[in-house]
Amino acid sequence: MHDYLIVGAGFAGSVCAERLASAGKTVLLIDRRAHIGGNAYDCLDQAGVLVHPYGPHIFHTNSERIFEYLSRFTDWRFYEHRVLAQVDGRLYPIPINRTTINSLYGLDLREDEVETYLDKVREPRPRIATSEDVVLSSVGRDLCEKFFRGYTRKQWGLDLSELAGSVAARIPTRTNDDDRYFTDKFQFMPSEGYARMFERMLSHPNIEVRLGVDYFEHRASLRARHIVFTGPIDAFFDFRFGKLPYRSLRFEHEHLPSTAQFQPTGTVNFPNDHAYTRITEFRHLTGQPHEGTSIVREYPQADGEPYYPIPAPANEALYKQYEALALEEKNVTFVGRLAQYRYYNMDQIVGSALVATDKLLRQQVNG
Ligand code: FAD
Ligand code: UDP
Repeated sequence: MHDYLIVGAGFAGSVCAERLASAGKTVLLIDRRAHIGGNAYDCLDQAGVLVHPYGPHIFHTNSERIFEYLSRFTDWRFYEHRVLAQVDGRLYPIPINRTTINSLYGLDLREDEVETYLDKVREPRPRIATSEDVVLSSVGRDLCEKFFRGYTRKQWGLDLSELAGSVAARIPTRTNDDDRYFTDKFQFMPSEGYARMFERMLSHPNIEVRLGVDYFEHRASLRARHIVFTGPIDAFFDFRFGKLPYRSLRFEHEHLPSTAQFQPTGTVNFPNDHAYTRITEFRHLTGQPHEGTSIVREYPQADGEPYYPIPAPANEALYKQYEALALEEKNVTFVGRLAQYRYYNMDQIVGSALVATDKLLRQQVNG
């Protein structure tokens, strides 16, 4: 019998496995997929271009602790992500910045004048609760309709007014020309890819990895003193209170031979055109030399693999019911984007897993 059974070999499960194994515990790590890395997994496509099968993953964090922790398993390539949004056939920087406003409206505003412009167009709201409140109160109606409402409807199947404010609040508004998608202190890609980083993380002799194993099919024969579960929390409890909504995506990958570059930035967003939300060209992210290039289009959908928790009040209330059950499970720890039903980035998942394992190891010492 292992000390720990960990369900899910993504960031949450792999960090927990590494920490527990390094503290002398034995770990059985399972995943129903055929590979480690969860949604952050990367691999070469048929043409030999490094791609992310589950959509583009760009690492960014302000946490020195998290960056240093991951640096034990990888070297890094400096990369600052940039995104353009196509509106009425032209490309503009997103997050909205001075360039976006000047080129969209044919203006030549200085930074302070952009502030004044935004003050004029923004619609103050008495209370900021929804994503619509966030966008209207920061950039006003026209920019909201051009850049946010259509994208959000496609991505979530919901109107901005039905989504928690935290979703749109991921995208800042700038009055200067900074066109980086993220402004975090650390912005890097693992230089040999995510999968290689996960391999190193899991190479500890105390960790046994079994792939293609679904917890729910094999739980009777999987024995351990404690379980760390990183899959969807509603599935763990047999959907007792009903299904928690997760948003899914279909990824359409394409390789373009003999193409030096497909688009000017890593990602181009399509708020109003097409059924897909965005196209990402991987070689911008990885810097890999190749005679061709590979891209992915993301088509949002309700059914399929769960990728995103959907931040909205009713879903949060349902999650709280499951969380109450989780708190009663003394021998199970729930960590990860699907288990905690939180719209977490990779670094936040690493942080969450480090906190969870610290707690587990402390409890063992004390208990
Ligand atoms: P996951 O990576 O989902 O891992 C969970 C694992 O559990 C999966 O491998 C699954 O197969 C396994 N599992 C589930 N149920 C079972 C079961 N019953 N039995 C066995 N195994 C099971 N974050 C960023 O920081 N930057 C980005 O640029 C970024 N881009 C993203 C783009 C997309 C399209 C998506 C969907 C997410 C993106 N993220 C990004 C978020 C990032 O993917 C997550 O924060 C992170 O991967 C979550 O890790 P996790 O371990 O919680 O979950
Ligand atoms: N968003 C938008 N237009 C954009 C970019 C983002 O309306 O051009 C909104 C949309 O609701 C999206 C959310 O902001 O789901 C968060 O965007 P982000 O790029 O962080 O999404 P992720 O990379 O997590 O899919």
